[in-house]
Amino acid sequence: MTTDNRVQVSVLGLGAMGSALAGALLKAGYPTTVWNRSPEKAEHLVAQGAEAAATARDAVRAGRVVIACLLDHASVQEVLDPLADELAGRTLINVTTTTPAQSRESAAWAAGAGIAYLDGGIMAVPHMIGRPESSILYSGSAEVFHQYQPLLDTWGTSTYFGEDAGLASLYDLALLASMYVMFAGFVHGAAMVAPAGVTAGRFAAMAAPWLTAMTGGFHGFAEVIDGGDYTVEGQQSLEFSNLGDLLAASSDQGISTEVVEMVQRLIQRQIDAGHGEEGFARIIESIKQPG
Ligand code: NDP
Repeated sequence: MTTDNRVQVSVLGLGAMGSALAGALLKAGYPTTVWNRSPEKAEHLVAQGAEAAATARDAVRAGRVVIACLLDHASVQEVLDPLADELAGRTLINVTTTTPAQSRESAAWAAGAGIAYLDGGIMAVPHMIGRPESSILYSGSAEVFHQYQPLLDTWGTSTYFGEDAGLASLYDLALLASMYVMFAGFVHGAAMVAPAGVTAGRFAAMAAPWLTAMTGGFHGFAEVIDGGDYTVEGQQSLEFSNLGDLLAASSDQGISTEVVEMVQRLIQRQIDAGHGEEGFARIIESIKQPG
């Protein structure tokens, strides 16, 4: 079903990410037209063989497939809403980061305007684009995904989740949520050792292998969560996971306890509800039922 044949592509938005996507398309030999609100950002891509369009409408007119990589949902609406007539009958692949609800809103708008729509979530930073470790998540039109997978694969590893256009964004933001909370945990640790004269660099050298090893535990947590039985033998219990020492040591170092307190609250709610002897994974029940 793949019938890509180096289709004519237009890229709207040449920030750090849009430029990387357009660069990868050019490298792979796709005839590429580019447009950016601030036109000077097109120059380096023109030097690589891109056509620069003077307006977003001209760019849409030049492309069978239109890629939108703008700042956010509002900028996508601002740029694309007036171009619905021009986009009709074409394919729109929107890799701008949006919430699932916003992705679904874009998909409904596209369906109403006769535009084939695929939504994307980029799990990579610009310098990773074009490498297999760059993972890009898609949902929306299966037809678009399969027809243009060779194009999508020029950016990294492409994964399709289904016709619900909000799914890629849901996975994207869930992965980012887990990343930011982990980052905050690392930064908390760095702040804890700083008063002892330990640099963040020294701490990072210890934290990176430690946290990498600890991610091995995700599968065990997942098994318990998916099985729905938090009493399974061999788990660290919630009572054992009391973070009192971490809170006291943080206070003694004169730093904020907010990051650790957040986890302690999730644990405590389950202990208070009588589940102290059950496994740590049970904190998902605190998360699923906001206090
Ligand atoms: P940048 O801030 O580098 O670029 C933003 C782009 O949006 C620019 O082209 C900017 O144009 C354009 N823009 C913003 N507002 C408007 C508007 N109202 N009308 C027209 N154009 C507008 O961001 P990135 O390129 O890094 O990110 C683009 C998308 O990719 C975002 O949704 C981001 O979340 C996502 N992403 C980025 C990653 C990254 O590491 N950079 C990682 C994963 C996803 P102008 O140049 O004129 O300001």
